[in-house]
Amino acid sequence: MRRLRSAKIIATLGPASSGIEAIAKLFEAGADLFRLNFSHGSHKDHRERFEAIRELEKRYDRPIGIIADLQGPKFRVGNFKDGSTKLVNGAAFRVDLDDADGDNTRVQLPHPEVFRSLEIGTEMLLDDGKICLHVTEFGDDFALCEVIVGGVLSNHKGLNLPKVLIDVSALTDKDRIDLRFALDLGIEWIALSFVQRPEDVQEGKDLVAGRASILVKLEKPKAMEKLREIVDLADSIMVARGDLGVESPPEDVPAYQKQILRACHAAGKPVIVATQMLESMIHSPTPTRAEASDVATAVYDGADAVMLSAETAAGDFPLQAVSMMDRIITSVEKDPVFAEMMGSNRQLPMGTLADAITAAARQSANTISAAAIVTFTTTGSTTLRAARERPNVPTICCTPRAKTARQMTLTWGVHCVFTDDVSSFREMESKAIKIAVQHGFASAGDRVIITAGFPFGTPGGTNSLRIATID
Ligand code: PGA
Ligand code: MN
Repeated sequence: MRRLRSAKIIATLGPASSGIEAIAKLFEAGADLFRLNFSHGSHKDHRERFEAIRELEKRYDRPIGIIADLQGPKFRVGNFKDGSTKLVNGAAFRVDLDDADGDNTRVQLPHPEVFRSLEIGTEMLLDDGKICLHVTEFGDDFALCEVIVGGVLSNHKGLNLPKVLIDVSALTDKDRIDLRFALDLGIEWIALSFVQRPEDVQEGKDLVAGRASILVKLEKPKAMEKLREIVDLADSIMVARGDLGVESPPEDVPAYQKQILRACHAAGKPVIVATQMLESMIHSPTPTRAEASDVATAVYDGADAVMLSAETAAGDFPLQAVSMMDRIITSVEKDPVFAEMMGSNRQLPMGTLADAITAAARQSANTISAAAIVTFTTTGSTTLRAARERPNVPTICCTPRAKTARQMTLTWGVHCVFTDDVSSFREMESKAIKIAVQHGFASAGDRVIITAGFPFGTPGGTNSLRIATID
């Protein structure tokens, strides 16, 4: 099975998409990767979904990527005596470490690191930004606030501190437990939430120690100040518009999205646009025109992947949401304006062997109207450079590493094939042709461009380009 589009679809799994047959239907409808969201569900739930996906890989004989998304330092208030309270504008309200049930004067906030990071006037947003407090006084274990925008606040609602650099690691104790679990399962992508600074990414990398690739969720405006360094350290980036749009005004999110996409293209790292893409499809079988346009914009801007969250995890129409996304992407990619935009956004090659070869591959493919570019790779790095060129033909990633094949499913325009290593040019050529034909990319008379590293089997040495004709 091959997809007829370049941008990828990530579907978040949840109660609305559990069980192998439900996941199979999402895959058939177009989901290329699945996200396991560790903010919800038990390890048992995640393990069952993981095993179902690996089973489907065998059923379809296609690598399928999995992302373990760690919750990160998401702050939440405690409980209220009556389950909730009403906060009135102008009233005083206290948050503190006391675990007694709250009322309309106070509630627990069990995060001492928050109190360490406050200043007079700090803005505290509760329940996805619906309620706004300003700090008027604070100590090591409390903050006294004025209610600026009131409303009903119920148990366990989230807290965001938009402009504050909080003295907290990007990985909580829960994250460390979840991380170990995900790595033991063998999940290939680990997503870090609420990253604030490059050091947070480094900390995640040190813990993961090469066993998976790192996906950094950009959802703190503070992180935008160090965008370049964060992109350089990460393997991939997610524009996490949900929390980003709480932590910063909604009108700033589109500009952030463009800046992040641009930084990722320059670095040649896959980038995902996420959250509220087809939000109304949680309860409706069709999206709004604005949502269709939002997905299309991400694709025109060259996003590697677009993501569905509650639409597939907890919505009423998970299948329709995936196939709608599939149709929007397909429609955009058929538009001649899309090819034009890919051309005008193209990044210059850097002064490396891999870029010399992949830039030539893209250009040669164009010149001779090749059917595909076939990359032989161990780590996937050559395939990433080939995709950075945004060629107008599909890129096939042939790799002997299952982990690489799964990771590359996230990359724009890349079709992944798990296959044995080659040991000669003759073998490379016949394998490239066989795979291109078998997977429906080429037929007799077509030509394919092949890139590889010689001597074979040594990672990181892409130095050869061949053109093969299929007879
Ligand atoms: P979440 O992250 O779905 O885990 O919150 C994405 C976002 O904040 O947009
Ligand atoms: Mn988030």
